[in-house]
Amino acid sequence: MNILITGGAGYIGTHTCVELLEAGHEIIVVDNFSNSLPVALERVEKITAKSVLVYEADISDSQKMSAIFSAHVIDAVIHFAGFKAVGESVKEPLKYYANNVNGTLVLLAEMQRAGVKTLVFSSSATVYGLPETLPIKESFPTSATNPYGRTKLMIEEILSDFYLADDSWRIGILRYFNPVGAHKSGQIGESPNDIPNNLMPFISQIAVGKRDKLRVFGGDYPTPDGTGIRDYIHVIDLAKGHLSALNHLAETQQKGMGELLTVNLGTGQGYSVLEMIKAFEKASGKTIPFEIVARRSGDIAACYSDSSYAKQMMGWKPLYGLEDMCKDAWHWQKNNPNGYEK
Ligand code: NAD
Ligand code: UDP
Repeated sequence: MNILITGGAGYIGTHTCVELLEAGHEIIVVDNFSNSLPVALERVEKITAKSVLVYEADISDSQKMSAIFSAHVIDAVIHFAGFKAVGESVKEPLKYYANNVNGTLVLLAEMQRAGVKTLVFSSSATVYGLPETLPIKESFPTSATNPYGRTKLMIEEILSDFYLADDSWRIGILRYFNPVGAHKSGQIGESPNDIPNNLMPFISQIAVGKRDKLRVFGGDYPTPDGTGIRDYIHVIDLAKGHLSALNHLAETQQKGMGELLTVNLGTGQGYSVLEMIKAFEKASGKTIPFEIVARRSGDIAACYSDSSYAKQMMGWKPLYGLEDMCKDAWHWQKNNPNGYEK
């Protein structure tokens, strides 16, 4: 297949590019490098010994997007492009609505114009808001607690309206839990620009000596050790989930049908912050100093998926556990203490 990947230079995008190239697909990346660097895609080329066609463009630029769709025969789009920092979205909501929602509207209009009707979209477990019970199933009610989450929810709703209007589309909405880890080569991984907001990159930076200690947000949650529980998923498993979604949607197309499929991509297993620290210490051989501080506003006690629907619908299941997640995150961080920057 010829697959257009928006945001393909980012953390999840690069890993998905590798999986797609290794599965024999042709890819075209559109990225404005607002949160990534071109070198990440050079690393993808190095890992796969294949070339990647890259357009530096903003997905909101309909002229450029239209030219890209005219220049290539595209079978499907995987849509990663968007901003993802929850805290920033609270401070600058307009920036998030403009980039995430408007960007998607432009993309959809250009896909429609070009007659490309297969789309895989990056959604998030954040759309479950404060789940009443665990594990979380796709049928649970959705809500948003911040503008970032609201953009994901809005896009999901837009896609649902879109499908209602034309049910020959094939749309896969993938709700990611907490992606961590890196490619086994240690060549690509998560490279935050600033102080990491997320747990795993923060721990990795402590291990490599860039930060002193972790602030554990909350030690009084109703969890076995009092710290927050999340469903961490290896980024390679997540990347493979996109291949499974594309294959599944291609089967739907072969049957002459359309589909709107929403699935969780998680492992189904939750780990606490303290368990993550311990696992990372074991993988890296480094001590991770920490102190328990107040809860971070907006955080929930626990969140983990029921991932059985993805297995049932697309034959996908995660292959890697916590040990690999920590080992691979550490391998990447050790080889690239400053991420992609020299
Ligand atoms: P990332 O920031 O590493 O990658 C996003 C990429 O999109 C970057 O390369 C950025 O430069 C590009 N981009 C942003 N806006 C653009 C625009 N208007 N036009 C063109 N390119 C643009 O993020 P990621 O972690 O790889 O996440 C990918 C997607 O998955 C995002 O939509 C994110 O919201 C979603 N997601 C991520 C997580 C996570 O924890 N990483 C969890 C759930 C969902
Ligand atoms: N966390 C923490 N210290 C940090 C970053 C995160 O204790 O510096 C905790 C956070 O409260 C949550 C878990 O680690 O319980 C995962 O947080 P992350 O930001 O990685 O993911 P999300 O909150 O989006 O699920």
